[in-house]
Amino acid sequence: MTTILSANLGYPRIGEKREWKKAIEAFWKGDINEASLLNQTKQLRLKALKKQKEQGIDVIPVADFSFYDHVLDTAVAFNIIPKRFQHHDPSALSTYFAIARGEKDAVAAEMTKWFNTNYHYIVPELKDTEPKLIENRALHYYQEAKQELDIDGKPVIVGPVTFVKLAKGYQEDELESWVNKLLPLYEQVLQELADAGATWVQVDEPVLGTNLSEKEIEIVENVYQTIAQNVNGIQIILQTYFETVQHYERVIQLPVSGIGLDFVHGDNLSLIQKFGFPTDKVLGAGIINGRNVWRADLEEKYQLLEEVKQAAAVDTLIVQPSSSLLHVPVTKQLEEKLDDVVKGGLSFADEKLTELHTLTTALRDGKETVKEAFLASTEAIDALNQSEYRNQTPEAARQDAKRDLPFAERKKRQQEKLNLPLLPTTTIGSLPQTAEVKRTRTKWRKAEITNEQYVQFVESETKKWIQIQEDLDLDVLVHGEFERTDMVEYFGEKLKGFAVTEFGWVQSYGSRCVKPPLLAGNVEWEKPITVKEIEYAQSLTDKPVKGMLTGPVTILNWSFVHEGLPRFNVQDQIALALEKEVLALEKAGVGIIQVDEPALREGLPLDRLKWPAYFDAAVNAFLLATSTVKPETQIHTHMCYSEFGEIYEAIDGLDADVISIETSRSHGEMVETFETNDYKKDIGLGVYDIHSPRVPTLDELEANIKRALETIDVEQFWINPDCGLKTRQEPETIAALEKMVEAAKLARKEY
Ligand code: GLN
Ligand code: ZN
Repeated sequence: MTTILSANLGYPRIGEKREWKKAIEAFWKGDINEASLLNQTKQLRLKALKKQKEQGIDVIPVADFSFYDHVLDTAVAFNIIPKRFQHHDPSALSTYFAIARGEKDAVAAEMTKWFNTNYHYIVPELKDTEPKLIENRALHYYQEAKQELDIDGKPVIVGPVTFVKLAKGYQEDELESWVNKLLPLYEQVLQELADAGATWVQVDEPVLGTNLSEKEIEIVENVYQTIAQNVNGIQIILQTYFETVQHYERVIQLPVSGIGLDFVHGDNLSLIQKFGFPTDKVLGAGIINGRNVWRADLEEKYQLLEEVKQAAAVDTLIVQPSSSLLHVPVTKQLEEKLDDVVKGGLSFADEKLTELHTLTTALRDGKETVKEAFLASTEAIDALNQSEYRNQTPEAARQDAKRDLPFAERKKRQQEKLNLPLLPTTTIGSLPQTAEVKRTRTKWRKAEITNEQYVQFVESETKKWIQIQEDLDLDVLVHGEFERTDMVEYFGEKLKGFAVTEFGWVQSYGSRCVKPPLLAGNVEWEKPITVKEIEYAQSLTDKPVKGMLTGPVTILNWSFVHEGLPRFNVQDQIALALEKEVLALEKAGVGIIQVDEPALREGLPLDRLKWPAYFDAAVNAFLLATSTVKPETQIHTHMCYSEFGEIYEAIDGLDADVISIETSRSHGEMVETFETNDYKKDIGLGVYDIHSPRVPTLDELEANIKRALETIDVEQFWINPDCGLKTRQEPETIAALEKMVEAAKLARKEY
């Protein structure tokens, strides 16, 4: 007889209505003190624990909570504090927040994406640090759950190999020595947990889904052998997620009590079927998608579980989500404005726990005992499938989209039409969204002002800024995006097929949360979305105004897309819808159209072998959306937060006439990439960082332009800020752009 248990891997931190965010930001502002912050967040933790217990989850995670990020938690607990913050008390909360957010004389630690998700972690800096155990967080939270709620929780810990792999400030060949330096600290953490009576501990090693080298997998083996020798009395579940486990045969032999595998992403089932699974180990079966909000088909999941059970004849099987539920909102219960069919088809964190419990019961006591839950799942899914939100037969998309003429020929025609000066100046799209802009939008949402009043207000902002841009003597103007809160949600609201939630927030980085639109599969363009705003802006000036759209890859990566259709297929559908918008803009006389793709590489699979297919699909989708314009229509794109070396080919493949890229945070690496590859198309490498209110000096701007022009041809280069200006104030924006245009004019004389 197999013992069947249910488990969770991590619960969202932010609270049903982002109470966590509000408390932390209130603390930063000085509106509440530390004691109050600690108390409020403790209440949120206890509430989450209670919910999980009431839902009947057998193995409940603890220490999944964080005040900012769990990788930063791990670093600080081990005294891994960047040198510039080492004069502070390592155990103080203020130190922790300083590392995350920066302070007067010390820049914040770098932040980057957590594997292929939209969650960002703080990159640990190992250089100049002396690891020691500052706090056993896992123990602390284990005891809290035990004392307050009598829950024997399962502490969640970032594993040593994943931690060091995600860190920076060391040479590649120092991986082993750093892991070994941390190993005794891990052992201490685990032994203290065992001594306190903890039954389970979840050690997350998502790097096991990446392409570890022979040397690296040996390091993994050594780590878990050492831990097995030195730590007694606790059952370690080695948790993997997001991908098929690489080196599977060696991973399953590691001396741990259990292994957690993702059965939603990648193909771990085939591995079990082929190579088996040790019967004396616990298998954590990640069966419910921890990263998507769509309801599970319980019938299908039950079959899958049966297959897993059959392939792995284990004594104990744990039914769990595929990953932490950190990546989904808390509960759908609060949604009142959603279409019933869509709402019925959803499952946020709390609903996923119900699904886990239902499946566990079905496996344990027979399906009959929970037949109503199964029926409800089938009915809701059928209703969604039969609705206009789902598309079972998507429009066929060309797989070889490309522009008619080569770039050199297009450039000639575009220049004839646009007649731009050497080193043209422009901005990335959005202009300052002042308090007034936000206030007015809220009023309109609450119906306190009429549609007409709102449109008029947006127009007046555009008008004001067209004048400002003309006075600044910028060459290519923008309308300012005043009508948009978010570059993806805006299109989610306008394209048919998307649904938007009221409370569907997920943590993106620190206290910042995003609310991804939902896409069930069928996306359609009904009527022009952006044409009116651009036409209006263009009517006010003789200079060209850029059309401004968000690209298909970014819309896909920043939405919750149903798994019923293959992702690439949905991406193509979004692209075909955007193509209609691009053509509508062109038809309205818009000569320059920018299609932003800041999230181009965000969905990259953990397994590098899958990268070429990912990039091919991304490039083709971009081309589907943009390649059918006339040669004289100039296509721009913009990217940020990217590491470019590896994706150069894809960028080139987009065949955009002009690309602008955020440069300030990538430390010259970018310029190098474009130099070594001899990039031929037009390019604007941001000449100043827009993430701070600081106005750049003329010297700085000139230096940045000069540096770029050492490698990039003057005929190719555009002068623009790093990114959109939406988060900046008006006066500093105007002052900075004034300097930028001045620098451009000086450069024109020189070259
Ligand atoms: N056009 C967008 C803006 O200016 C681009 C945003 C981005 O860089 N991610 O806000
Ligand atoms: Zn950007």
